[in-house]
Amino acid sequence: MKNHTLGYPRIGAKRELKKAIESYWAKNHAEEALDIIAKNIRKQNWEKQQQAGVDLIPVNDFSYYDQVLDLCVTVGAVPQRYQELIDSNFSELEVYFAMARGLQTENHDITAMEMTKWFDTNYHYIVPEFVQNQKFKLFSKKVINEYKEAIALGIDAKPVLISPASFLLLGKEKEKGFDKLDLLDNLLAVYKQIIGKLQNLGATYIQIDEPFLALNLSENEKLAIHKTHTFLRKEFPLINFITATYFDDVLENLELINTLPGAVLHIDVTRGDETQLGQILQSEFKNQSKILSLGLVDGRNIWKNDFTKSIAKINKAKEVLGADRVWIATSSSLLHVPVDLENEQKLDAELKSWLSFAAQKLDEVVLLSKLTTHPTHKDLLQFDENKQAIQERRESERIHKFKVKNRESFIKETDFNRVSAFKTRKELQKKALNLPLYPTTTIGSFPQTPEVRSWRAQYKKGSLSIQEYNQLLEKETRESIDFQEQVGLDVLVHGEFERNDMVEYFGEQLEGFAFTQFGWVQSYGTRCVKPPIIFGDVERLQPMTLEWTVFAQQLTNKYVKGMLTGPVTILQWSFVRDDQPRQTTCNQIALAIRDEVVDLERAGIKIIQIDEPAIREGLPLKRAQWNTYLNWAVNAFKLSASGVKDETQIHTHMCYSEFNDIIESIANMDADVITIECSRSQMELLDAFAAFKYPNEIGPGVYDIHSPRVPSVAEVVDLIEKAEKYIPQENIWINPDCGLKTRKWPETKKALEVMVNATQQIRNKVLA
Ligand code: GLN
Ligand code: ZN
Repeated sequence: MKNHTLGYPRIGAKRELKKAIESYWAKNHAEEALDIIAKNIRKQNWEKQQQAGVDLIPVNDFSYYDQVLDLCVTVGAVPQRYQELIDSNFSELEVYFAMARGLQTENHDITAMEMTKWFDTNYHYIVPEFVQNQKFKLFSKKVINEYKEAIALGIDAKPVLISPASFLLLGKEKEKGFDKLDLLDNLLAVYKQIIGKLQNLGATYIQIDEPFLALNLSENEKLAIHKTHTFLRKEFPLINFITATYFDDVLENLELINTLPGAVLHIDVTRGDETQLGQILQSEFKNQSKILSLGLVDGRNIWKNDFTKSIAKINKAKEVLGADRVWIATSSSLLHVPVDLENEQKLDAELKSWLSFAAQKLDEVVLLSKLTTHPTHKDLLQFDENKQAIQERRESERIHKFKVKNRESFIKETDFNRVSAFKTRKELQKKALNLPLYPTTTIGSFPQTPEVRSWRAQYKKGSLSIQEYNQLLEKETRESIDFQEQVGLDVLVHGEFERNDMVEYFGEQLEGFAFTQFGWVQSYGTRCVKPPIIFGDVERLQPMTLEWTVFAQQLTNKYVKGMLTGPVTILQWSFVRDDQPRQTTCNQIALAIRDEVVDLERAGIKIIQIDEPAIREGLPLKRAQWNTYLNWAVNAFKLSASGVKDETQIHTHMCYSEFNDIIESIANMDADVITIECSRSQMELLDAFAAFKYPNEIGPGVYDIHSPRVPSVAEVVDLIEKAEKYIPQENIWINPDCGLKTRKWPETKKALEVMVNATQQIRNKVLA
């Protein structure tokens, strides 16, 4: 019985890699200096795992930006537009970063590759680009070099490669008239070269990640996967290939899996159908000689492993397969959890005793293998400690609040619905609000200048008192209101200057949330996020946004829109407790937001926005489960929004453009107004809204806030006119496509002026 991990976080415990790369980008570091830091991080990660007692240690899980991009350069899937850089002798690393981030210099102007979410995680990978008859070649020797590095350090190294089939499935065809899977033969030829080199260097185990095996597959996709593994086996009969799946169960593809050669099958037993393990053990798998690697230690969440449960699963597998055919592992790569709990100085001991970050998860993997082979006295003591921590968490009063549970369990059908249907509300709101045709507004935040950030830092350090800090924020809010009045916007916002992050701000004020100091997780490239931990029943003890909203409202006769983060987004961007259904936790958050909405209304706020940018990314990996998720997610939003009178206008905001799949659910959210991103796709997504006959009001973003570029009046007029083709006039709102937090004031002012002028032109045309 062996144990292994599928991958380890590469940013470093204190984000050392992030800092080094950004320093290199800023030209403060030479490439050689960056290389030394990277080598050191790899060494530390390997040695950490070696010391913990991990048997097989992943290599090539390190990356300067993204593992899929690494594979693109490894197999020479470098799009044609970067060839000019190769021709002008740019280094491999320079080409690599140009692919990740684009390159704009005097001599070059090349766009970056696209980025998208890695399955249902918050990690983003670079999307490979494919063209017809594309040839591949060994371009970067990264995996080979890293393998050499590891064995030179005496590491029991297991190179990790994304399977050629999954690599193709992750990418996009950049021309019409061919299927990316047609490229498989070409790609396999390069893999043969790579694996041949690894074998010559002494590799005996190679992990082939085939994450698509946990998804719905077409016949063609199944064929590609089958062909891949048969090929590898035929070419390399001496290598033990570990076929790794994760993030969901593999039941749908079990038949296919049982026809695949390979030495080891890795499954994620923390997710998906609970019966997965039992079904695999009863299947043909039992009669084969393959090893089953059990992904027991959760690579996606931060809770301590429940050893009692894990050991039961290990024993169950051993009973059927025999001890030699069972391995123990993390469920997925540990990339998606923070690095080390030991660094946390501010979490209390009780909470810490419930948690486990990447470093602790190594110990869990190793201890689980010891406990199911030859445990020492010390191992058994640790098992006792584990049992105790699990039990204490189960029973803790910090987690379980009768009042909250009770309220959640008594939610009634009517709590999800507004008093009247949208048609009636629309009339009442029209009378109550008296807004002009094409009302103009923004999405909430105004620029978070370095100054604003420095006030918060000083306040946190203690060098600004709360009074001083608030005065500065008041001044900033007042200026933002003045500006919005001046430029002539119809519905104003306070500007969100008091907020660090749209989830953290609420989490910090709610019971049941905890925050780490160093709980960073890579989101994309060098960008990391620090998700809050929802450990207990969620409760709002006092209003969270009332003061700032009312303060801003008192400064103006125009409406100030209340600004809240929705329950699904708060859930989605946190580490969520695993001891109750996500739906229950989401409802608890929804009730807290609902109370805030009602308080805002009571204080005289007539328009309230509840942002739900993350609702789409919560979609389960398998389509069959979409409806269940969408039902409870939409209901949670409605629960948060429905405590108010018909006259109060509820807005929501989403910032992505793939609505087609879920448009019906978006309509079911029944927000009076939705503001959405769509300036980049030139209103294309409105097709979805038009085809569906979206009933409520819509603000299709009329300019892209992701770029500092100021649009012209003519461009914005053009976009509004396009929108008019899809949406009835009386339903259109005019706004930018997302919050303005990341922009600077000068461009923000100019762009909003343009937006208001364009709206005026359109209004004049209508009146004429
Ligand atoms: N109200 C938020 C803001 O303007 C919305 C952010 C978002 O859509 N992600 O910043
Ligand atoms: Zn947005």
